[in-house]
Amino acid sequence: MDLNDSPEQAQYRAKVRSWLQEHRSEAPVFSGQDEQESIAARREWQGTLAEAGLAGVTWPVELGGQGLGAVEQVIVNQEIARAGVPGILDVIGVGMLGPTLIAHGTDEQKHRYLGPMLHADEVWCQLFSEPAAGSDLAAVQARAVLQEDGGWRLSGQKVWTTNAHFASFGLLLARTDPSVPKHKGLTMFIVPMDGEGVTVRPLRKLSGEPDFNEVFFDDVALDADAVCGPVGGGWGTAMTTLMFERLTIGLGSEAMGYRAERFAQAIAADAHARRDPEVRRRLGEVSLELLAVKFSGYRTLSALQQGQIPGPESGLAKITTVRAAIEAGDLIADVLGPEALEADSEWSHMISYLPGLKSAGGTEEILRNTIGERVLGLPPEPRLDKGIAFSELRAAERAAVAAAKSGSRS
Ligand SMILES: Cc1cc2nc3c(=O)[nH]c(=O)nc-3n(C[C@H](O)[C@H](O)[C@H](O)COP(=O)(O)OP(=O)(O)OC[C@H]3O[C@@H](n4cnc5c(N)ncnc54)[C@H](O)[C@@H]3O)c2cc1C
Repeated sequence: MDLNDSPEQAQYRAKVRSWLQEHRSEAPVFSGQDEQESIAARREWQGTLAEAGLAGVTWPVELGGQGLGAVEQVIVNQEIARAGVPGILDVIGVGMLGPTLIAHGTDEQKHRYLGPMLHADEVWCQLFSEPAAGSDLAAVQARAVLQEDGGWRLSGQKVWTTNAHFASFGLLLARTDPSVPKHKGLTMFIVPMDGEGVTVRPLRKLSGEPDFNEVFFDDVALDADAVCGPVGGGWGTAMTTLMFERLTIGLGSEAMGYRAERFAQAIAADAHARRDPEVRRRLGEVSLELLAVKFSGYRTLSALQQGQIPGPESGLAKITTVRAAIEAGDLIADVLGPEALEADSEWSHMISYLPGLKSAGGTEEILRNTIGERVLGLPPEPRLDKGIAFSELRAAERAAVAAAKSGSRS
């Protein structure tokens, strides 16, 4: 997004650029060191960025942030990408979970957790997805049961938990009342990852990164003040996180390197591809999509600057960016051949990482459904779970299937 900076924004950009130029030699360089070393180096770098005011740009000043707008956050993302240095380590914490704590946490929670999160002294993970609750997040089965002393006991399993293996805390969605419809009986908790009964098992991605995990909770004791937001209001708290998740992916796409000029440069370096009309057509389509994302990004930024919260249309930026970048990766692989997938290729990570991003932060099908229903006003998907207590859902589903079968026989 090459913004038309206002004089103040141009000044801010110049300040960020000059700081990055001066400090880029302190940034970690990745050259095959082990994972622990790499995490330690990135923690330290996030601390340095935070000290310079380049992390938590939109967080309130009294909570350690800079109190600036989304435009300044995009400027920081762009300048970090331009300087060729890594961004912050804890994107999930600072970009999504911190803003959730700011919106729903108590003053004690904000003051206890936000500072160490910003400086990566304590990294956070998002404990939402479960084996049977991904797209249908409100189906979570992890149970937290209230104790007589006001504390809670937590049992269940989470999956696809990025960074859980080095996180200090997680924000976890659990069912606290199965006797009400599924969106209503949920509560959000702050869970210490070193608590007794918490087990983290790593899962490795196609792209080779070991940053996924499954996490098991076996009768874990939580204090009363572990609740974040209202008891029974966990769905609303989770929606805040998911809104920031889509925004972080949408507005951060350029910093991830999904830029039409970058793809065009790689293709133009190949004399044959440069003249091939089919390659030019495919590159044109990718560039067009990324241009559309850029202009809808401007619209989102204007809305944010005016204090509006982006609606379901923000899912469009995520779908379009990811689709265009996957198509660009396919095109580059077609042009460069197998060398695009070699370990030291500039493209191999992007090509193997992006299919996963289609699911992270809401799958394409689910976002399309949301946009169809809530932006375009199309008829909603049929729902079997409306108004039914979570504990009765299985029986209601079985009855609906039996009724459909007998209807199809008669
Ligand atoms: C890189 C990555 C990082 C992640 N990090 C985290 C994390 O840190 N914390 C966390 O909690 N989760 C994380 N996730 C999980 C992510 O949120 C889920 O993968 C996502 O919500 C989809 O859920 P699922 O994988 O269970 O797929 P499912 O919900 O089982 O969906 C499977 C397929 O069915 C389709 N489908 C499902 N329902 C419908 C419907 N009603 N209509 C049409 N199609 C449908 C989906 O679109 C999808 O194609 C991560 C995922 C990835 C890939």
